[in-house]
Amino acid sequence: MRLFATIAALRCYLELRRKEQSVGLSALPSIGLVPTMGSLHVGHLSLIERARQENSTVIVSIFVNPLQFGPTEDYQSYPRTIESDRILCKLAGVDAIFAPTAKELGAQEGLLSACQVVPPESMTAVLCGKSRPGHFQGVATIVTKLFNLVQPDKAYFGQKDGQQLAIIRRLVRDLNFPVQIVGCPTLREPSGLAMSSRNQYLTPQQKEQAAVLYRSLQQAEKAFKAGERLAANLLAIVRQELAIISAVEYVELVDPNTLMPLEKIEDKGMLAIASRIGAARLIDNIVLNSRQPIVAIDGPAGAGKSTVARQVAAALGLVYLDTGAMYRALTWLVLDSGIDINDLPAIAQLASSCQIQLASSTDLENPVRVWINDREVTQHIRSLEVTAHVSKVASQSAVRQELLRQQQRWGQKGGLVAEGRDIGTHVFPNAELKIFLTASVRERARRRQQDFEHQGQVTLTLEQLEKSIAERDFLDSTRELAPLQKAADAMEICTDGLSIAEVTAKIISLYHDLGY
Ligand code: AMP
Repeated sequence: MRLFATIAALRCYLELRRKEQSVGLSALPSIGLVPTMGSLHVGHLSLIERARQENSTVIVSIFVNPLQFGPTEDYQSYPRTIESDRILCKLAGVDAIFAPTAKELGAQEGLLSACQVVPPESMTAVLCGKSRPGHFQGVATIVTKLFNLVQPDKAYFGQKDGQQLAIIRRLVRDLNFPVQIVGCPTLREPSGLAMSSRNQYLTPQQKEQAAVLYRSLQQAEKAFKAGERLAANLLAIVRQELAIISAVEYVELVDPNTLMPLEKIEDKGMLAIASRIGAARLIDNIVLNSRQPIVAIDGPAGAGKSTVARQVAAALGLVYLDTGAMYRALTWLVLDSGIDINDLPAIAQLASSCQIQLASSTDLENPVRVWINDREVTQHIRSLEVTAHVSKVASQSAVRQELLRQQQRWGQKGGLVAEGRDIGTHVFPNAELKIFLTASVRERARRRQQDFEHQGQVTLTLEQLEKSIAERDFLDSTRELAPLQKAADAMEICTDGLSIAEVTAKIISLYHDLGY
């Protein structure tokens, strides 16, 4: 593992890594960045672990950012533990730490004459922004610099700092940064207290007392699950529980994306609190979600994903998000509109303006009904002409991006099962249940051979099939477009020796375990 304190050294290293990756010396060429202020704990390590699983290069930045501390805040006393951070990063498989000085990053304390990034006031005037003026401007400025320096494919942030996460997502969207922001769940002490570098400021008694923050959020969550949607009532429950501590700074219910205060939860609400306990200012939040859940099933070809996904959807009354049918519908529209199949810009434009609708049906032949621009095309999309052209249309990245947007719009409503290679990592990273369905190469070869036999086709030997499956696995996990990836929080199910019905039952029971 390398440690760099200068921008020049970091740039040089990244240039070398990119060169190595472009000649295919490493699989899944992507850079994951985990920005931190150091004094690493298990919460940070969970972000690093996720980044390690999803990228070929993991960079952790350690920088106590003076721009985000107010004049009376703990910038000077903030714990700095670079030696133990270095050891933890090494053990976690980090490739490089970037730990610049404030001077190196052009962020000396009080430096106000440089360009800064100003997030929208509507997002900084609420929650922590009220008592920490300039804080999110300081965060956005340094995160922008880190994005420019590292140019990561993915960057990892904790839901623990929910306001920061929302602002960074907005920053990336508004300023067109080519980076995917991955929000990661909050890790907690056994008492429920959210892990934080600032917990070190607490005495053992104060730590015990601080557990009330999460307890109060859990009480509100219980009421939410029982049907309570009104902000006033949910906030009252939290405040009542927090009555034992005197220095509560705020309790608010906001939209987790826009941070606008909510009177009622229609879809999702972030219930957030900040409080002083002893020498520490602590924050915590939970997202209350009335959206129906999403089940994301990923895995290698031949593991039985699509059959299982259809059956799980039917058994749970969820919609099967048939992404293949979406690509087919678009291909049908391209052909129907008389657009040349090689006219990529025209196809990209059509993709961005079309509306695809899916609904489950009881017809076993066509379990998903499909509409494009309000025209039902359930039967049309199975034509030989569509089949012949669909892979060409689907291989275009502009098309995939547009359809991804449509799938994610669907995901906002929830209530669906989707399968593929990167559903849990990329399409629906917030899916409630993520399954990684796999089977040994031998088992998949055996199943393929059986399928061929049933279809009366000449079969290849098991060894030949095994070889071709192993090759396909390699291609699928190293391809640039939507590579096969197991989400860090996915449950792996190996289907060797299991029937479709057994796998389906297992997923349904995991779904019920989540309380649905
Ligand atoms: P910090 O070092 O406090 O700036 O945190 C660096 C990153 O780790 C931020 O994205 C935080 O949201 C995240 N983080 C901090 N505490 C936790 C936790 N308890 N669980 C998960 N992520 C966390």
